[in-house]
Amino acid sequence: MDSPLVAAIEAGGTKFVCAAGHGPDDIEEARFPTTFPEETIARSIEFFNEVQARKGKVNAIGIGTFGPADVNPESSTFGYIKNTPKADWSNTDLASPIRAALDGIPLAFETDVNAAAWGERKWGAAKNLNDFIYITVGTGIGGGAVSNGKIVHGISHPEMGHLRINKDDSVDSFEGCCPFHGDCLEGLASGTALQQRWSQDPSELPIEHLAWEIESSYLADAIINITLTLSPERFILGGGVMDQEHLFPMIRERVTSRLAKYIDVPEPEKFIVPPGLGAQAGVLGSLALAQDMLK
Ligand code: ZN
Repeated sequence: MDSPLVAAIEAGGTKFVCAAGHGPDDIEEARFPTTFPEETIARSIEFFNEVQARKGKVNAIGIGTFGPADVNPESSTFGYIKNTPKADWSNTDLASPIRAALDGIPLAFETDVNAAAWGERKWGAAKNLNDFIYITVGTGIGGGAVSNGKIVHGISHPEMGHLRINKDDSVDSFEGCCPFHGDCLEGLASGTALQQRWSQDPSELPIEHLAWEIESSYLADAIINITLTLSPERFILGGGVMDQEHLFPMIRERVTSRLAKYIDVPEPEKFIVPPGLGAQAGVLGSLALAQDMLK
């Protein structure tokens, strides 16, 4: 095998995906629910120990986590999950106990969406692109950005899920469900918002339902705002809500018409696309980050 054995964790708010392997074609995984930090971290370590007993030592680990998270390696709280609304997980040191259990191997720590973006660049729908965005629309909404070939960081990390969005109260009277901002993008367009607004599982809403008009309108506004800010070459839209494939043409149509040719999008079907790695983007991206630690 060319590349060394590495490990990955996609730390989600509802489930953890732990993996070890050499690349997308050679990977083994364990999935379990995200419960209390101690229990969930212990289960992750147990999986890696079991893999190491069979396959030998893992050489690096990448973690892509729900957030907000401290991704600044210079910070005293690097590797922590910060001020999250998820019960029991605020200010949790996720990275240190895992790294310690793996003998202090090199560790990359990123947001789940930045990790997913990185995986899509290496193996998925953003190969050879230096400027693109990965957005997940699921229980919540998050966005990762690659600019000039690098993952975007700064005061924290991008938080595109909480963009302010145009809302017409005569069309949509739902007040929004973000615990911090109410009617931000996540508050209006996440799977949670869809569920609360229509009081049913969004995957059961028919294609012609008004829900999708509203949903595609909000997502189009977010894509336009990000396009005007970062000028990305592509948007990759993943997450459970985007399994509704009819949303893609609806979003493309609204983005191009609202941009009004101020910015020309010559091929909308290549500008807004589903993930090449599907639901594996986050865990494979974390694996790619681990591989990069060994370069
Ligand atoms: Zn918000």
